[in-house]
Amino acid sequence: MTEIDRSQQLFDRAERMVPGGVNSPVRAFRAVGGTPRFIASAHGPYLVDVDGNEYVDLICSWGPMILGHAHPAVVEAVRRAAERGTSYGAPTPGEVELAEEIVARTPVEQVRLVNSGTEATMSAIRLARGFTGRSKVVKFAGCYHGHVDSLLAAAGSGVATLALPDTPGVTGATTADTVVLPYNDVSAVELAFAEHGDEIACVITEACPCNMGVVPPAPDFNRLLKSLCERHGALLIIDEVLTGFRVSRSGWYGLEGVAGDLMTFGKVMGGGLPAAAFGGRADVMAQLAPAGPVYQAGTLSGNPLATAAGLATLREATDEVYEAIGRAASVVSNAATEALSKEGVPHRLQTAGNLFSIFFTDEPVTDFAAAQRQNTAVYAAFFHAALEQGVYLPPSAYEAWFLSAAHDDAALDRVVSAMPAAARAAAAAL
Ligand SMILES: *Cc1c(COP(=O)(O)O)cnc(C)c1O
Repeated sequence: MTEIDRSQQLFDRAERMVPGGVNSPVRAFRAVGGTPRFIASAHGPYLVDVDGNEYVDLICSWGPMILGHAHPAVVEAVRRAAERGTSYGAPTPGEVELAEEIVARTPVEQVRLVNSGTEATMSAIRLARGFTGRSKVVKFAGCYHGHVDSLLAAAGSGVATLALPDTPGVTGATTADTVVLPYNDVSAVELAFAEHGDEIACVITEACPCNMGVVPPAPDFNRLLKSLCERHGALLIIDEVLTGFRVSRSGWYGLEGVAGDLMTFGKVMGGGLPAAAFGGRADVMAQLAPAGPVYQAGTLSGNPLATAAGLATLREATDEVYEAIGRAASVVSNAATEALSKEGVPHRLQTAGNLFSIFFTDEPVTDFAAAQRQNTAVYAAFFHAALEQGVYLPPSAYEAWFLSAAHDDAALDRVVSAMPAAARAAAAAL
């Protein structure tokens, strides 16, 4: 067994000071059991915990680290920025450059920088309501858009992982204007528009859902959402916080080509520091303060360290980087599915560009209800057997696996050789 004494001690201390011992729920290992590893450092494709154990990292900070950890160009950019001061409360060149980089790669015409994906979706919804003068928001079960009150109805990610039915503290009045529909169900969307057409401010959807596991949109689903929104005078908000700048240089938009009226970004664009953005049509964005009446602000928005890390990451993310991530993802997904098939473990691999997840179920997963029919106990056994061999998978069956361009042959070999024993552990848990 791996020594984890120091992680255990830190977790005990953390639990006394911090609810559940963590600052974001999925980190706590509740869904898979056991003690979360406290990380001391990371380099390239590896995490090193406080007991000195090294793991091949398959979560990459839940997406941002497409270049791997402590990439020299990013470290240097952040170091130089820090030397110039860490925050001014006044505009900086980096904000302009990052906005230009985002506008150049995506269909958005203008952007506003914020600090987290949650802030991005929250602000986009406020703006959609302000712009349309309507109140209802349509979201899909299993899609996660951060911990925005009105969107914490049937949400994915940690909400799904911990099977929280609803979140206490979010009032009925807050979610009364939220219409939750099954994902990939066009007729449900048509029905909602037939019923509430002139009250719907926006439909918000993950460009490709990855927070209930990877559940790609049916062909044309996003396009149909767009035309339904257009027909009924509602805005389409496409959430690319996870997929943006990860699945291609232009995110999911680069693969499918459907533009939202508003779009949200985060994760990769901050290069591992807190930065996110929402953007879209210039006429909609013009409603935002100080240009327009819809208020939105942030003391640390467009922080110079975060824009430096984001710009360095995006500028290093060449076509070769995306090709390398794609190759690494197929090596890992093939190794996992081959090992599971050999052990007779029912499973389904679902992919979205270089993202994928493995559901422990026989059936295709096209929506949240199907995702919830997977066997999460089998995943927990698989997860721990991999961890024991130095492979850090997402500690939840409802998350995607993340690779980076730093996952070289040595790191991938380690993952590949861990899969047979992980699959045997999964088989034993059936
Ligand atoms: C991670 C995520 C968010 C929330 O971003 P935070 O930075 O964690 O607030 C929103 N939407 C999607 C699709 C995400 O994956």
